[in-house]
Amino acid sequence: MFYKDDRQIYRVSELDELAWLVHGFGTRAAEVRARFPNLATVKQVHSDRCVAASGRAGMLGHGDALLENVPGGLVAVKTADCLPILLVDERHRAVAAVHAGWRGTAARIAQHAVDAMRETFGTDPADLHAALGPGIGPCCYEVGPEVAAQFGVHGRTHLDLAGLNSGQLLETGVSPARVYQSGLCTMCRAAEFHSFRRDKEAAGRMYSFAGIVAQ
Ligand SMILES: [Zn+2]
Repeated sequence: MFYKDDRQIYRVSELDELAWLVHGFGTRAAEVRARFPNLATVKQVHSDRCVAASGRAGMLGHGDALLENVPGGLVAVKTADCLPILLVDERHRAVAAVHAGWRGTAARIAQHAVDAMRETFGTDPADLHAALGPGIGPCCYEVGPEVAAQFGVHGRTHLDLAGLNSGQLLETGVSPARVYQSGLCTMCRAAEFHSFRRDKEAAGRMYSFAGIVAQ
């Protein structure tokens, strides 16, 4: 279950039970960058490309998912409407942070991230927890026919990024009981979240992060 902690970071209570894990979804007020100077990030390009951080910090090239299993390592994605997804492999103590807008969702970035975790860490999707954080909701995300067509819909529609990505994760074998959705719309909740669609070029970005506690 999602809740907001006293640092203005959303967390998932089921993931708090994993003592080796650091995780959260930042809001406008969360100072994630200042609090975690060792974040690994990528230049996000709405692709299906996954990058293994392997203990490195800083900007690690182009991609839309970052993987980590090194103690002390922390990976993050930046969003303002796009969906942040954190994948947590309980058995192998490995994580991924995923950035999924409509292009990434159409490219099945979440499934590519699960595949990359399988190849890199030996992850079995049945061992994964998947947390889908605050993003633009179907309430606010009307798209035109060109985008709708990417999802097999004719004409204008309202896209449900969380629903689409959760469906893709279930297809890989993630258990429905381990998929956690925030249900928080970044465009509706202006006081809490940045929204690119609402604020245009003035929109800030929020960090969502996952990592392994330092030994
Ligand atoms: Zn909304």
